[in-house]
Amino acid sequence: METITYKVKNSLYVNMTNRCTSNCTFCIRSFGDGAYGSPSLWLDKEPTADQIAEEVLSHDLNTFDELVFCGYGEPTMRIDELVYTAKKVKAVSDIRIRINTNGHANLYHKKDITPMLEGIIDVVSVSLNSAHKEQYDKVCRPAYKNAYEAMLEFTSLSSAHVEQVIMSVVRGTIPDEEIELCEKIAKEHGATLRVREFDQ
Ligand code: SF4
Repeated sequence: METITYKVKNSLYVNMTNRCTSNCTFCIRSFGDGAYGSPSLWLDKEPTADQIAEEVLSHDLNTFDELVFCGYGEPTMRIDELVYTAKKVKAVSDIRIRINTNGHANLYHKKDITPMLEGIIDVVSVSLNSAHKEQYDKVCRPAYKNAYEAMLEFTSLSSAHVEQVIMSVVRGTIPDEEIELCEKIAKEHGATLRVREFDQ
């Protein structure tokens, strides 16, 4: 059976796709089949919008701190299904909704999708991963040559539609002295920096 939702601490995570436009050297998918003790998150078949919404709404959302579109892949590759589900959730619950993303959505969809987030997504967390494009390309191995620039632009555009925008780096994957520069980059793009631990 496919695992569409899984719990991490007191948050409910949503797994809609295993596809991704990055191939990060530190990706959790390289180290096992699940995340944080979940069952396997590999999907034989991607769930439909209705299957995702039904599964999410089967939980008592008021008992969770947050609903997180994360996946075992890049959730914005399924932006229509994501928005469909988030709208259904917002209709019945005040739960905070976050997207964890690599920020490549506008490249992938060939349009600016950030207006679609308005009023339904509370937090967008974009993986910055490095203060330097060359290093980003080495670590994230993105499918696009201009992924770094597009990710920065996606962050700025998101900040016009979403209350809280975060950029994240993973401790240990960049030199400590680069963190200050990442903070500056995040601020310049309307975001705040979060330094994640390797296993979060
Ligand atoms: S963006 Fe996330 S899911 Fe995609 S390869 Fe990197 S760590 Fe893995």
